[in-house]
Amino acid sequence: MHELSLAQNIIETVKQNVTADELTKVREVIVEVGAFSGVVADSLKFSFEAITSGTELNDAVMTIVDIPFCLKCNDCGNETSTEIPMLLCSICGSSNTQILSGDELRVKELKIAEE
Ligand SMILES: [Zn+2]
Repeated sequence: MHELSLAQNIIETVKQNVTADELTKVREVIVEVGAFSGVVADSLKFSFEAITSGTELNDAVMTIVDIPFCLKCNDCGNETSTEIPMLLCSICGSSNTQILSGDELRVKELKIAEE
């Protein structure tokens, strides 16, 4: 139940970013989840809904934005975007690589009802 604690962290982040007044008006929480973050998006969403049910965030829906895994090779400069995270360069096989994207888990945006 790794996602349960992650969902709790996300809710804390939401609370830190809105006023007490706005909390009940949060309608959508947009979360970026990288392909390499190890987070199961469906499970995270389910946990979020379970925790927020009956609370100030009852009406808030979590929207997950999938961030593809992207790797840059420091040896040959190749950039690879793959569905399955690979830490070796697909061109030269080097392990001297850096992750450009795909390991993120962050709240990207909050949508709050106007009135
Ligand atoms: Zn390479």
